[in-house]
Amino acid sequence: MKNKECKIVQDILPNYIDELTSQETNDFIENHLKECTECTEMLNNMKKEINSEDTKKQKKVINFIKKYNKKITILKFILLTILVIFILVLGRRATIMLQMSNKARESKKGDDYFCSYYLYDSGSVTTIYSYVKENEFLRELIYSNNYESNYKITEYCNGSSSNYYIENSDSEKIAMLNSEKEGILPIKIEDYCFLEKDSSIKTFLRNVFMSSVKTVKCNDKECYYFSNIVSSSLGMGEIYVDKETGLIVRAIINGTGVQSTISDFTYNFNTINDESLKEPDISEYKIVSD
Ligand SMILES: [Zn+2]
Repeated sequence: MKNKECKIVQDILPNYIDELTSQETNDFIENHLKECTECTEMLNNMKKEINSEDTKKQKKVINFIKKYNKKITILKFILLTILVIFILVLGRRATIMLQMSNKARESKKGDDYFCSYYLYDSGSVTTIYSYVKENEFLRELIYSNNYESNYKITEYCNGSSSNYYIENSDSEKIAMLNSEKEGILPIKIEDYCFLEKDSSIKTFLRNVFMSSVKTVKCNDKECYYFSNIVSSSLGMGEIYVDKETGLIVRAIINGTGVQSTISDFTYNFNTINDESLKEPDISEYKIVSD
């Protein structure tokens, strides 16, 4: 009798564990278990088995989550590293630009300076010499190319008006006096100062993000080389800035065509005397009105 009951109880034990059995069946099983150690033992073993299977599954899930978390942590770390490097690179670039801009501002403080400008442009060379003493200045522009259409323009400004002396390729000499049109020659030291005219935040940020900087030698000077930089006085291209002075010593400007122009600049401060500011001899020129 007991054996038969055992068989029935053991058959329905899995359902009993899963709580799928009715209250009457539960009562019947529990009554039997009170008196049967064999079935009780069996029930305990079945419970253990189920428990260990559950832990296995749980462990798998936990391991999966751990691995996933590890991957996320690594990804976060990589992104953070990239962000830090990005900020460091941009910060360095911005710092160098501000430094050079400040140095340039200091350098051009002297009202007495000489600067020269050479522009090389597909077979032609334009040279401009500027002698500046306070408001007074003398500028010479000499243009020469392979086709002998050379000319020279000298501008003398006494502080309020300018006289222009023009010598063309046929050696004709003409002069325009007391012209209010000051500065047909686009040369002022601001044009050479690093980003001097580009005080706008927009241009500055554009340059910080878009250009690159490295240290190079140019015209025997330790320079910062900036590629892909925008300057309102020069246009867009590459510039070499003297680390000492913050002044541009070379600019390679992208033209509208394929050809780029190369310009070289030199500067001397506090060397201007009356001789260097001497106006051309007016008697050699034919005076015309503009
Ligand atoms: Zn039993």
